[in-house]
Amino acid sequence: MQKVREFHRQSIQDREAFWAHEAQRIHWETPFTQVLDYSRPPFARWFVGGKTNLCYNAVDRWLDTQGDQPALIWVSTEVDQEIVYTRADLSREVNAAAATLQELGVVQGDRVLIYLPMIPQAAFFMLACARLGAIHSVVFGGFAAHNLAQRIDDAQPRVIVSTDAGSRGGRPIAYKPLLDQAIAQSSHAPERVVLVNRGLAPMDLTAGRDLDYAPLRARHLDALVPVVWLESNEPSYILYTSGTTGNPKGVQRDVGGYAVALCASMEYIYGGKPGDVYFSSSDVGWVVGHSYVVYGPLLNGQATVMYEGTPVRPDAAILWRIIETYRVNALFSAPTAIRVLKKHDPALLHRHDLSSLDRIYLAGEPLDELTGQWLSEALGKPVIDNYWQTETGWPILSAQPGVEEVPTRFGSPSFPVYGYDARVIDEATGQDCGPNQKGVVAIEPPLPPGAMSTIWGNDERFVRTYFQSFPGRLCYSTSDWGLVDDDGYWYILGRTDDVINVAGHRLGTREIEESVNTHPAVAESAVVGVADQLKGQEAMAFAVLRNPAVLDESGARDRLEAEIKRVIEQRNGAVARPARILFVNSLPKTRSGKVLRRAIVALCEGRDPGDLTTIEDPGALDQIRDAL
Ligand code: AMP
Repeated sequence: MQKVREFHRQSIQDREAFWAHEAQRIHWETPFTQVLDYSRPPFARWFVGGKTNLCYNAVDRWLDTQGDQPALIWVSTEVDQEIVYTRADLSREVNAAAATLQELGVVQGDRVLIYLPMIPQAAFFMLACARLGAIHSVVFGGFAAHNLAQRIDDAQPRVIVSTDAGSRGGRPIAYKPLLDQAIAQSSHAPERVVLVNRGLAPMDLTAGRDLDYAPLRARHLDALVPVVWLESNEPSYILYTSGTTGNPKGVQRDVGGYAVALCASMEYIYGGKPGDVYFSSSDVGWVVGHSYVVYGPLLNGQATVMYEGTPVRPDAAILWRIIETYRVNALFSAPTAIRVLKKHDPALLHRHDLSSLDRIYLAGEPLDELTGQWLSEALGKPVIDNYWQTETGWPILSAQPGVEEVPTRFGSPSFPVYGYDARVIDEATGQDCGPNQKGVVAIEPPLPPGAMSTIWGNDERFVRTYFQSFPGRLCYSTSDWGLVDDDGYWYILGRTDDVINVAGHRLGTREIEESVNTHPAVAESAVVGVADQLKGQEAMAFAVLRNPAVLDESGARDRLEAEIKRVIEQRNGAVARPARILFVNSLPKTRSGKVLRRAIVALCEGRDPGDLTTIEDPGALDQIRDAL
């Protein structure tokens, strides 16, 4: 472990020299004059004065050496199509998308909202925005109208790029009606909506606003749009993530720091080199999709596989089939996907030649020991658990085989990655914890390159949300509990806040509660995350009705439950739908009115609810027990 420890030490103690060296991985049109400006803590500005461009580094820079090599490999088992785009093809498509946006008036600093499924146009438009210096905001296709409207209001996009439909399990899922509803609900109107028509669902075009992309693309297919060189700290994108309030936070990322951090991680963490093939099965709507479907591999001259489909269709060997066909070197997936595979015939794991595959990376949610071990033994490949967040953009804790191969331990995402001065801090005292002592996982600022620069349009919220958790100490809180064992291996022990993680999707319970409360029959509600064998966690809702007597009617309970679930689906998308909506007469609260979520979770999981000295009405807990 000596090498990886020394590497980490250098990255913290000799921070500027370390990152100045790593910065050589990318093209700088204008060299930076200062590696780090930390004159206004906790805001860190990396590679000050340097001018660069993410699209240039991901596409143009590789055209000479890799023009005819695969760059984007699109596999869709939803529409049974596979397309390999070379770097030259990618360049053509990105330029056509950029010329289209330009024709619609998009200039540097404008926001472009991308609401697309896993189709190549999502990557084309992200890179096109990067080329123009426009700020993209990709919204996960599984989100519904209300989520989308909130993001339109906050980001105020000039243009929205969307489609007629996505597809799941072979069935089309219409996007356009949701988009129309969202635009109607929001107070900001985009000037133009560009639609990629896949021919999967009928779609109405609003005259004067909506445009079919096909003719625009055809017209611009030979365009060459000049790269807009951006100062390293200009915003590249906004990606919304859930927190403890009903309003998602727009995580804002920079340009130069992000490019450098991702490029370095491709080698040190993911063991990749130019020409390799990388396959991340995440959706572009999440941070992994941004960093490791689109930007990371392409910046490092690697090909990336973009997959539209589920891990079990046409059968549970599809991931392995893709790896065999395209000679994939590294797979990045989520524990939930692997837990799903575990239920299928183990022979499927051995049907394909996986000799190209070096390692498997799993992230986004806790990886339980059994699942990690099962996969590693079944495939005979190392399985690496990564821990990170939308906010950081790349791993905080991980093994780093590109620095040094060290033994991993299932249940632990290994140790801090270079660049992260990670700590475990005692919430009450603000002091660092000792070995085996549980505390909050934190990062001593400055945050490294690639991590969020601020919350879009709200510096004050950035400081308040992330840097004010510890008495007398300005330190970034991850809002995760953790500990470090005697040997220096780190363990993540769950969230400190009300955020839950369903199948790797981060959801704010507050957002779901707000949706439950919009049902006219509901007075108040509590939504909690409960352990689930497959999905890690699932949401469970407890609702107090305005008039509990309505439940006396026959069938009322089921009808209300179904109605409330439908409201949630319409506002927050199917991912947020709770397993159950249970009705109670009151919620267990402290005397100061805070819902005792931990006690509710404990009861749902069949555990002891613990210390209840602050409870207002102990009878409320009995009701939860009875409802269960
Ligand atoms: P997101 O921002 O959606 O990527 O969610 C980040 C959160 O997911 C973290 O704060 C953790 O709570 C959880 N998480 C991500 N990766 C891991 C991991 N490897 N082990 C445990 N929890 C994880």
